Amino acid sequence: MILTNASEILRKMSHAAMRAGREPDAVRLIAVSKTVPAERIREAMEAGLRIFGESRVQEARAKIALLREPSHGFSGVQWHLIGHLQKNKAKQAIRLFDLIHSVDSVALADELNRQAANDGKVQRVLVEVKLSGEDTKQGVAESDLDALIAHIRQCSNLKLEGLMTMPPYDPDPEKARPYFHRLRELRAQAEKRGAVLPELSMGMSHDFGVAIEEGATMVRVGTAIFGGRS
Ligand SMILES: *Cc1c(COP(=O)(O)O)cnc(C)c1O
Repeated sequence: MILTNASEILRKMSHAAMRAGREPDAVRLIAVSKTVPAERIREAMEAGLRIFGESRVQEARAKIALLREPSHGFSGVQWHLIGHLQKNKAKQAIRLFDLIHSVDSVALADELNRQAANDGKVQRVLVEVKLSGEDTKQGVAESDLDALIAHIRQCSNLKLEGLMTMPPYDPDPEKARPYFHRLRELRAQAEKRGAVLPELSMGMSHDFGVAIEEGATMVRVGTAIFGGRS
């Protein structure tokens, strides 16, 4: 089931990339495994998936501990944090995640930088941008984005690789297109000021095709791989 779902998604991802004149391998699939138990994540690894996205540090820690046992034998597995991160979990996050998609404040960046320095790690991060103006959504406001990017670029133990966003939910994927388009414009603006931001993390189960047409380099897909979350 996971294998069938994943194959179908990878096929649709390739088609979306080709529609946009992009190379299919320019887009990576992040399997969003929040609420999914370790055994099913293992099944996804057997199906060939290698990048997993988790929302909560605590939940991820337990599953990563189970799945990192050498006997599991899968190499090249990466864990990404896609959910909101509280400063008091920064230290754990540094130890668990290859890429943190959700940096949205100077205070959080500073704490991650400090903890990464303590661990002798350079932490890869993305900045999460709030484009919808909804109070409930995480992310830095557009008006504060430049300052946050400039700040992170000064943090010697953070490596800023791009931007992430999550549009307000709408079942019609075309409704998300302007948000994806905007994230790409913001990336271009930041790159004019000297930042190098190759990654755009955008698109979920129902709208990843549109996101890829608009330039996504990472899509975060949960339910289309693992089925509905209870
Ligand atoms: C849960 C989640 C996803 C995946 O959503 P699906 O609709 O299940 O594909 C993507 N990004 C973030 C930030 C999430 O929290």
